Amino acid sequence: MRITEVVAEILRYELDRPMADAQVYIPARVSTIVRVRTSDGVEGIGEAACFGGAEHVVCKIVETQLAPLLVGEDPENVERLWEIMYRGTIQLGRRGVIFGAISGVDIALWDLLGKVCGKPVCTLLGAHDRSLMGYASGGFYMEGKGLDELSDEFRGYREAGYRAAKMKVAGEPMAVDIDRVRTAREALGPGVRLMIDANNMYTPKEAIAMARAVEDLDIYWFEEPVRTDDTEGAAMVRSATAVPIAGYETEASLDGFKRLIAHGTVDFAQPDAVWCGGITEFRRIAALARAWHLRMAAHNFAGAVSGFANLHVSATLSHAPMFEMDQNPNPLRTEIVTSPLTVDSDGVVQVPEGAGLGFELDESVVERYRVA
Ligand SMILES: [Mg+2]
Repeated sequence: MRITEVVAEILRYELDRPMADAQVYIPARVSTIVRVRTSDGVEGIGEAACFGGAEHVVCKIVETQLAPLLVGEDPENVERLWEIMYRGTIQLGRRGVIFGAISGVDIALWDLLGKVCGKPVCTLLGAHDRSLMGYASGGFYMEGKGLDELSDEFRGYREAGYRAAKMKVAGEPMAVDIDRVRTAREALGPGVRLMIDANNMYTPKEAIAMARAVEDLDIYWFEEPVRTDDTEGAAMVRSATAVPIAGYETEASLDGFKRLIAHGTVDFAQPDAVWCGGITEFRRIAALARAWHLRMAAHNFAGAVSGFANLHVSATLSHAPMFEMDQNPNPLRTEIVTSPLTVDSDGVVQVPEGAGLGFELDESVVERYRVA
């Protein structure tokens, strides 16, 4: 079997009600789908990160830089193909959009290998636990959204069965955000985990002040408190608070996480399979985190394929206690596959049993949202 074609496409959904975190305004949700086709007619499907509006760039990289390196190769040699992609683009960049593109292809290769073997990807890799505690990822900023609406939102997560939920901070003056966190904690009640996410927007001093202000609210983790490149500041924040620190989804590659981990910046390493270098690189980062006795928490905030890829790889780890479940309306997550990921009444998400990543695209729905 040989690779015959590697293509990428862009899906886009305009939000009725735009949302924001502390870093970015989000008027639309976008997903880039990568397809690896073979001489046997088997197709592997992946997703590439395109956060920050890079979807056209990522697709171009897949089709003009990566595809020529891969066509004619045996798709079952995933490790070899990862190395070919990495070496073939090293002068273009070793993080960011290059790693988004590599991630999309790598995920498609794992999906393909699972389909060829007739096994779920997490079985190929050696599963640890096929049931993970899902956490509700929401609490975004929206125009006109006050404390009452935030309270209703978080009570809704608890009532839906979630045992953990995450909200945004750092987008309002700190006193306002402290009130928001207190509101969410009251709505969830005791016994439900609450996480906060600053999306890199605090200075170290601000992050320490925020952490101390909410320490009595039983915060399970404080995500991306400061800029990803502020290694010393991030380490200072972690050492100054009892609240565990999670991050940094904006980092990619094993080398990137080596720097974060070795400098003591995180308690939860938080790579995203669609962004950090695919399932292959995610596993290496997980092994590194394991060596430092840290926990893992996959970032998952893109389209449907991202969910399946991050879930399969998380299910192979003994040190990944929870899984991110985006709660915002997004048909690119909920409609383009025939069976989207959901949680049961206890907030638990199961890895699907089908071969590969275990999803089936509804191509007519994909077509409806395709813009390029
Ligand atoms: Mg985040």
